[in-house]
Amino acid sequence: MNIGSSIVKENSSSSNYENTISSILIKTISDGIIAVDLDWKIIYMNPAAVNLLDLSADEAIGKKLWDYIETSLPRISMQDQKMFPCKIASNGEEIECSITPTDSNIYLIAIRKNLSKPSDVERKYQRIIELSAEGIIIINPMGEIAYANPSFRSLVGYEYLKGKLFRTILSDESIYIFQEVFLEARSEKKQITNIEIELLHRNREIIPVELSLSPFIEDEKFSYMICSLHDLRDRKKLEEELRKSEKLKTEFMNIAAHELKSPITPVKGYLELIISDEEASERIKNWAKISLRNAERLLLLINDILDIARLESDTMRFNMKQISIANLLKEIVEDVKQSIEDKQLDFIVEIPEDLPSIIGDPDRLSQVFKNLITNAIKFTDRGSITLSAKKNKNNIEIYVRDTGIGIPKGELNNIFKKFYQVDMKEKRIAEGTGLGLYICKEIVEKHNGSIHVESFPGEGSTFIITLPTSIISS
Ligand code: ADP
Repeated sequence: MNIGSSIVKENSSSSNYENTISSILIKTISDGIIAVDLDWKIIYMNPAAVNLLDLSADEAIGKKLWDYIETSLPRISMQDQKMFPCKIASNGEEIECSITPTDSNIYLIAIRKNLSKPSDVERKYQRIIELSAEGIIIINPMGEIAYANPSFRSLVGYEYLKGKLFRTILSDESIYIFQEVFLEARSEKKQITNIEIELLHRNREIIPVELSLSPFIEDEKFSYMICSLHDLRDRKKLEEELRKSEKLKTEFMNIAAHELKSPITPVKGYLELIISDEEASERIKNWAKISLRNAERLLLLINDILDIARLESDTMRFNMKQISIANLLKEIVEDVKQSIEDKQLDFIVEIPEDLPSIIGDPDRLSQVFKNLITNAIKFTDRGSITLSAKKNKNNIEIYVRDTGIGIPKGELNNIFKKFYQVDMKEKRIAEGTGLGLYICKEIVEKHNGSIHVESFPGEGSTFIITLPTSIISS
């Protein structure tokens, strides 16, 4: 049965062209067209309707429309001539129907998929946003909240936020910051991340959050801003606790080191007395020498710990003055040359006389160079140790080079960390605390300088210290 042509026949006064066009149109449009009689019995279905309902036209003709289409509306009147939401009975897919009466007791029902319904993918994203622990909001160009997910609503304690100006839930200091980043993200059409601002909870509590925002651009025009807000309260609390415990640890280290240092001084004094006592036997003197060596090592460790405590609490005092680095290095050479000779290593010294002066604390800088040379002696069994210096533009570079065991490439950055010692695999060949280089680095940096190392395992290491020359050069 071809109702298309029978409808067309009703309008036989119209031109044949119109008839033909109507007939073609009805067969080709994407909307489904179903013709029913006064009892809602189907008398025609166009190909799109057959497709949408997924049945054959022969099957449906003569059956009631409501066998295939369900509607939640209690009564649909033929005279209604309106759109109403329906579902396809076989698969529950939502469609829209509209009825149009004709003047021949035939009613045309147009059906189409409900395009306003979100797709599956959209529904998935919607669920993710609803479930997200991060606060997510959408802000319109007027600065009003167009959408807020449940996490954000509970973060600020409001049930409804739609239409609320976002700045009304920001602390005073944050309003300006937010406006700045909002405008920047909007005008430069770029995403901005990790901005710290403060939200104002409904109960006036200030909530620190990390804000990231991303503008949504449609047809080159800004349409809204998507913002994600991460609650920083736990992190801030942890940071605060960490700061407190760091402070306590530094204070403890300071007190413990001072308490340990006091008794060592007299112990050392008495041991030195025994060693120089003519009445003491050689055996006793030997024991005293071993004890003294150990007491001195203990003292070095305590001094290192005291230095760390001072550096971390920023209480290390620097007696800065203009000094001749050449003279300072020469003094160091005198102090260390015996230990180098004792290990039967060559000591190569290359210090030009005309090095410019620097501003620094001579005792602290001497501590740094001696530490580097002591390490070089410790880690070198044959070959030489070189101490050299040269001027390079506005800096002086001081090199401490050895031909010792060297440092593996992967460890080069670690050795300046606190308590770090390179794992020697075999038995520890050198004693130490792993604090020396950390202290050196801190002291050099307090002089606006830098320290780095170049090293090859089996060949040796070179520590390079760069210090700025003083403005008044000598
Ligand atoms: P330590 O008291 O252990 O010497 P440092 O901080 O001075 O502490 O040095 C850290 C680590 O760096 C050392 O344990 C050693 O493994 C490595 N190191 C330092 N200087 C040298 C060097 N000249 N040659 C080889 N390894 C070195």
